[in-house]
Amino acid sequence: MTKKLGSAKDIITLPNPTLWQLSEDVKEITPEILEIIEKMKQAAIDWEDGREHEVSVALAAVQIGILKNIVIIRSNFDDKSVKDFDVLINPKIIRKEGKIVSDFEGCLSVKDFYGKTPRYNKVRVKAKNEKGQDIKIKAKGFLARVLQHEIDHSNGMTFVDHVKNHHHFYKLQTNGELKNLDYETEVKTSGILRD
Ligand SMILES: [Zn+2]
Repeated sequence: MTKKLGSAKDIITLPNPTLWQLSEDVKEITPEILEIIEKMKQAAIDWEDGREHEVSVALAAVQIGILKNIVIIRSNFDDKSVKDFDVLINPKIIRKEGKIVSDFEGCLSVKDFYGKTPRYNKVRVKAKNEKGQDIKIKAKGFLARVLQHEIDHSNGMTFVDHVKNHHHFYKLQTNGELKNLDYETEVKTSGILRD
């Protein structure tokens, strides 16, 4: 049996200021690093198990309060029953290309909020996998969006920082629908914005 290392309770949410801090690159893949990765996977799946309308697509280490540049991304975006993740250590965007597209984005660390978030349609990313091997990813569409979202976390940013249009904030309702929010009374007062 796998040791229980992480749960949904480990996931920090705004306005926790740790989410606005920079993560450090991983210098060496030690047993401690592998344990952090396992903790992230368990926390992401446990979170999903408690959220009826959402999927844990990806997670960055800062989201469990660890300021290291580690990202996990779900191996299969279409089938929720596949609980595997790909691991990206020290991921960096080396090129952004294509159009900028706005679409709905949420985050495990921005509880219940969604925003129409502008992102490049195509990116190229370099990283290492958990074996320390160099990998390069050429991504477009949803995967490109997810990579930009996660690499932002390592740079102390969330999707909220990109939503400049005040009419583009939404909140998840208990029935699974998104409700458009009033910026002055429902977003400004929520604690998700930076000072
Ligand atoms: Zn996120």
